[in-house]
Amino acid sequence: MPFTLFNTATRQKEELRTQEPGVVKIYACGPTVYDFFHVGNARAFIVFDTLRRVLADRGWKVVYVQNITDVDDKIIHKAEAEALPPEKLAAKYTEAFFQDLAALGCLPAHHHPKATEHMAEIIALVRKIMAAGHAYAVNGDIFFSVRSFPGYGSISGKNIDELEKGARVEINEAKQDPLDFALWKAAKKGEPSWDSPWGPGRPGWHIECSAMSMKYLGESFDIHAGGEDLIFPHHENENAQSQSVTGKPLARYWLHNGYLKIEGEKMSKSSGNFWIARDVLKVIPRQVLRLFMLSAHYRSPLDFNPENIEAAGHGYAEFQRTMERLRGIIRLPRQEDYLTDTTAAELEKELVETGRSFSAALEDDLNTAGALGFLFRLANKTRQIIAGRPPKTHQLLQVFHAVHEALGKMAEILGVLPEPQPVPEVVQKLIEQREAARLEKKWELSDQLREQIISRGYALEDTTFGSLALTQNQFILAELFTSQQATRGVPADRNRKK
Ligand SMILES: [Zn+2]
Repeated sequence: MPFTLFNTATRQKEELRTQEPGVVKIYACGPTVYDFFHVGNARAFIVFDTLRRVLADRGWKVVYVQNITDVDDKIIHKAEAEALPPEKLAAKYTEAFFQDLAALGCLPAHHHPKATEHMAEIIALVRKIMAAGHAYAVNGDIFFSVRSFPGYGSISGKNIDELEKGARVEINEAKQDPLDFALWKAAKKGEPSWDSPWGPGRPGWHIECSAMSMKYLGESFDIHAGGEDLIFPHHENENAQSQSVTGKPLARYWLHNGYLKIEGEKMSKSSGNFWIARDVLKVIPRQVLRLFMLSAHYRSPLDFNPENIEAAGHGYAEFQRTMERLRGIIRLPRQEDYLTDTTAAELEKELVETGRSFSAALEDDLNTAGALGFLFRLANKTRQIIAGRPPKTHQLLQVFHAVHEALGKMAEILGVLPEPQPVPEVVQKLIEQREAARLEKKWELSDQLREQIISRGYALEDTTFGSLALTQNQFILAELFTSQQATRGVPADRNRKK
């Protein structure tokens, strides 16, 4: 089956055909490091991390680049507020970004280029754009001339004349046209700056991404990804700058994830309506956050609310327990009998169908919600079979082995695999003693042993294969929404819409 993705630039699902067979080159816009990122940003990181895992699982060699914007107006303003030099502030939040990215279970990119380390590339690209007649200098500022590039609007589908009508009249006498945007900004007093042919200054945000993506992935690469809010103007401008000198679109497929909302409103730093990702991760496991993020199609909006988080937590807890049951059962001594087992055959059929449906869902524009549905269906079926006290057959044990492996692999692709927590030897011993007591019908002793197991934080489950100790899920999800640990921004009254 072909792998299809919805391309913002063509407004349709297209088969993924990479320029170099077997290799897929992806650029995902990274953070502007002026603060800890919020869970809305985390959605983009998780979605595109998942895309990359899925593609790698299908045998593609993935080259994944995610930049760090470490020079920007927001950094300069925040540095003033925190009384730090801008480069110190950027370094502090860059480090935090890497910690939090790992805490989300996102694989590091192959390259995480920083804007401040690519000034030569940025300046060279600005020079090329000027030489091609698409930019002009005014008092040390360089502007891109939007009207000089006929393809402007091709990514966002916006019409240049409509944009012109809607453009705010800015108090910027320097620009020839209100649509034009800065490639390079002349240095202001006290701000970080770099030498350039136009005097000291710093790059605009859009040019950083063009220069760094082209450096690591070439003039025209496969996938450019980011949040929906980046379509315009950021991605439109990136493409215009690049294509104006190379004659080729910067990327073939433009992918955008939908907004994460709080109570129906877009989560954003500027509106004060947000949750800090690292604080959320203090209260809920990363797998729950990922399950929540992947429970909707990546292009749909998703609401961050107690009900949705609770549902993800519940799904995860069930899944975790079923994985523990399977792990426990397949560790037990093998059963040597050769009965024909219809339960095993039934589960095996479900296993094969799940593998097929899971892949098909992901191949269809990364339908993670569908894929998770199939994963949970197989886990539930397995749980029901175990609870139904099936005959203890060799055949069923073998299928349990295969199901455990398959569920593990699927969960790993989505980054939601629970970390195996081995049952401590002391608990294992208690289980054996209890089983022995039960065989001897010493019920009082067996009950005492059960209490001891529970007091050590384990739930006890008796199956036809033997007794299993399952970890109790300690996290209380509702806590997130009342906890003092998690920082939730509050919209300033002036920004409240109601
Ligand atoms: Zn970017």
